[in-house]
Amino acid sequence: MADYTINVGNVEMTALADGVSMRDPLAIFPGSSLQEWRLVPGALYAGDEIMSRVGTTAVRSEGKLIVVDTGLQMPGAQLLEDMKRRGVDRDAVDLVVMTHLHGDHVGWNLTNGQPTFPNARYLIPKADWDFWTQEDVMSDYPHIGQQVTPLEEHKVLDLMEDEYQITSELTTMLTPGHTAGHTSIVISSAGEKGFILGDVANNPVQITHSQWTPIFDMNPGMARRTRRAVLEMLEQEGHLVSAGHFPDPGFGHIVKVSGRRYWRGV
Ligand SMILES: [Zn+2]
Repeated sequence: MADYTINVGNVEMTALADGVSMRDPLAIFPGSSLQEWRLVPGALYAGDEIMSRVGTTAVRSEGKLIVVDTGLQMPGAQLLEDMKRRGVDRDAVDLVVMTHLHGDHVGWNLTNGQPTFPNARYLIPKADWDFWTQEDVMSDYPHIGQQVTPLEEHKVLDLMEDEYQITSELTTMLTPGHTAGHTSIVISSAGEKGFILGDVANNPVQITHSQWTPIFDMNPGMARRTRRAVLEMLEQEGHLVSAGHFPDPGFGHIVKVSGRRYWRGV
């Protein structure tokens, strides 16, 4: 069975999920073809669909419990049950960090109008806050008014610039393109390195086909450049990666075999 908790030096990561959704790969990646998908082992499920996990990573660092992204809270959502199953107490969460403000990353910020994590500060990349809280954007994306802006009224919100130090072991890295302020997290502890990817890639196929950009990438050109630079770094430095939308539990490495990069799950 897959290991849902894994260490990077003294930092512990636990994979959590709010659920999974099955999707048509060509609708999500219009630049791809079914023939190419079929050449990638494990990429397609029954009916030629791809799977997207709605993942969250819980991180323990220097006595702090940090939750990165909060799922979608769709019908049948499982995040709170999954936290119980994996020993993550929501009352004990010190910080909630959002990689970006898409609806499937902020869904459990609040429950019935109250912070789901009652003792936590909530951290949002400033460039994403600035974009998503514009009046015309908010009217198109109701999840912002439901799950994001109330954090300010509850006085639990902090905004992060690039290279924000969450703990001395966890530092944010601006990885824009998917959204304007999209942010990943670099883990560095006891000589080991880890990386919380966010949506720099939405499917493991993008490790090999880094030019494939899903319809969710708001600036596709910038998302591609960011993806290539990040993958290069992860491959060369050997980070243990936590990828929220990749199949359970979403931990793995970027490896190069015969000149091509692949996702190697652990
Ligand atoms: Zn996203």
